Amino acid sequence: MLKGSCLCAEVAYTVAGPVESASHCFCTMCQKQHGAGAGTYANVARADLHIERGEDNITEFASSEQGRRAFCRRCGSTLFWRSEETPDRIAVTLGTLDTPFTDPVRIELHTDTRPSWLPHCPAA
Ligand SMILES: [Zn+2]
Ligand SMILES: [Zn+2]
Repeated sequence: MLKGSCLCAEVAYTVAGPVESASHCFCTMCQKQHGAGAGTYANVARADLHIERGEDNITEFASSEQGRRAFCRRCGSTLFWRSEETPDRIAVTLGTLDTPFTDPVRIELHTDTRPSWLPHCPAA
């Protein structure tokens, strides 16, 4: 089981099921939201994600017609990404995990906007 929380620790969550895939997304929306070169996510079943505390602190931003980006409204930690097109799936930000995630991140998305200053981490 994976466990995660936001920076201020008001929000905590667990993932009870397997990660289908993990990805680095270099799209400009992820860069803006994370303030970083990429957003890194683990794709899991929505039914496996449990908000253990702080659900009232989670706010969603609609970054596109289908995309929804959840963050802690107190500390700003980016928590989840989901699409209205796939309501049974949700992506959890690897950076908010408190338990080790040891699978390789094999998928790179939107590499056309990958910043040149980011060190290259070859896909495993
Ligand atoms: Zn927080
Ligand atoms: Zn992205």
